[in-house]
Amino acid sequence: MSTMSAAGRGEAYDVIVIGAGLSGMYQLYRLRELGLRVRVFEAGDGVGGTWYWNRYPGARFDSESWTYGYSFSEELLREWDWSEHFSAQPETLRYCNFVADKLDLRRDIEFNSRIKAVAYDEAANEWEIEIVDGRRARARLLITAIGPLSAPTMPTIPGVESFRGEAYHTGTWPHGPVTFAGKRVGVIGTGATGVQAITEIAKTVGHLTVFQRTPNWCAPLHNSPIDAATQAHIKATYPEIFARCRDSFGCFIHQADPRNALEVTPEVREAFYEKLYGEPGFGIWMGNFRDVLIDRDANATITEFMRRKIRSRVRDPKLAETLIPTNHGFGTRRVPLESGYYEVYNQPNVRLVDLRETPIERITPTGVRTSAAEYPLNMIVYATGFDAITGSFDRIDIRGVGGRRLREKWADGPRTYLGLQIAGFPNLFTLVGPHNAATYCNIPRCIEQNVEWVTALIRHMREKGHVRVEATAEAERGWTEHVLETGRRMLFTQVDSWMMGINSNVVGKQKRTFMVYAGGAPKYRERCDQVAAAGYSGFVFA
Ligand SMILES: Cc1cc2nc3c(=O)[nH]c(=O)nc-3n(C[C@H](O)[C@H](O)[C@H](O)COP(=O)(O)OP(=O)(O)OC[C@H]3O[C@@H](n4cnc5c(N)ncnc54)[C@H](O)[C@@H]3O)c2cc1C
Repeated sequence: MSTMSAAGRGEAYDVIVIGAGLSGMYQLYRLRELGLRVRVFEAGDGVGGTWYWNRYPGARFDSESWTYGYSFSEELLREWDWSEHFSAQPETLRYCNFVADKLDLRRDIEFNSRIKAVAYDEAANEWEIEIVDGRRARARLLITAIGPLSAPTMPTIPGVESFRGEAYHTGTWPHGPVTFAGKRVGVIGTGATGVQAITEIAKTVGHLTVFQRTPNWCAPLHNSPIDAATQAHIKATYPEIFARCRDSFGCFIHQADPRNALEVTPEVREAFYEKLYGEPGFGIWMGNFRDVLIDRDANATITEFMRRKIRSRVRDPKLAETLIPTNHGFGTRRVPLESGYYEVYNQPNVRLVDLRETPIERITPTGVRTSAAEYPLNMIVYATGFDAITGSFDRIDIRGVGGRRLREKWADGPRTYLGLQIAGFPNLFTLVGPHNAATYCNIPRCIEQNVEWVTALIRHMREKGHVRVEATAEAERGWTEHVLETGRRMLFTQVDSWMMGINSNVVGKQKRTFMVYAGGAPKYRERCDQVAAAGYSGFVFA
């Protein structure tokens, strides 16, 4: 890429941002304030990222809506009303568009522009980018805002292409209506997305077959509309709401209970679990006894409680057992929140196929064939999720100093400094990248921190006349060790999941590699602030 003439290398900007989800939109806004020439390149034809792509039935927040929106603008907070405590995708997409209009963002965003390659040109100290249609552009600074869950993966089952009915992946759902009435629908996948989609599809479907490989521990969402009085209260208390989020481990409104599960009596424990089970949102995951995600015996108590709940909600005892996870404890993988999921399996027109007993052999032109039977279908819904956190990086050919590929550098797991920069890749910042607190967070809270920190660093560079910044190998090593250390005490590092870099549908992602940052957002923020206060220690400027 770097051998071309300046004209052939496309338009030059101060900063190029890839992605127009919540991260890219906010980054654009902040950099404009610095007076920089910024261009955002976005694969989709609209803003919103996750909320633009994931239009599947049932898609909605697990975060409380009123903790999820941007907090930086009083005007946005004042003018936007969330209609539900956990709003559905159409409303969140409307919110993203409302923000884009309000801040006049679209004029600097180039839509329908999927970046296929980016390369650092050492001589020019510039990043060159190439879009799939061959267009190019370049900039001194490059910021990825490409999303932790934005690279959809299809299962590696033979025959996928041969199916003659309707077929959709939840992460690239069509923009037009999709109907289920009178149809035989199959859903493959029972993660957070599958659980939402299955519950919604079951309401109108002719017949539904759910193909389950790994059951998850699902907890009730308890969504409800926001009435006028609650709306007024939320608006009046936004500063307190965001302060509470700031103080909590994952920036959710829920804070861990200071007690240990094993210190209280079984009666007190049971009553507390029952209370959490009856409350909205992630309280049962994030606001539980402080040892349930760390101590195996403590975890066993909540896991047993959840097991009993599934048994009480599913009428057929054999079916209930199939829906109970056996390979991980509650909360050690992403907890899907549900609104009547288990009751779906009491419907006469819903069937659960356990793929651990009878694996799928192939997709046929007319349905799904397992080792035991053929299931004729009019529609297949792939709720098979994403190549998480590093997937969107792997799908771009990213080359740093000396043409070194990021994909190769990260072959044994990501290595970063603060989850925001990478040695050997100067002037590149990775918002919500691997080993960043944002990967284990009520994400917009961490997006705001990421963007504001990166913006401050860029302001610092301008004030000092620097044109190049790069994390040192030593700082990167120190951060990577710290990240791995934070993971060691968490039970989830002993379980296969996307947080541990496992995706059976992606070549090379069968080995556990720690993807997230488990030290908590407050500690992460403190580290970032210390680095800034020390004149950006661990970075070399030129
Ligand atoms: C179904 C679903 C529900 C979720 N619910 C919650 C929730 O309740 N709470 C929570 O905190 N988080 C939730 N998340 C996580 C969610 O991804 C984040 O909250 C947030 O939206 C991330 O914003 P982002 O801008 O960093 O990334 P994204 O929203 O993923 O945006 C990334 C953008 O980059 C673009 N892009 C990627 N690669 C390229 C490329 N090569 N070239 C050009 N453009 C590119 C994509 O098209 C996309 O628009 C959910 C995720 C999913 C999938």
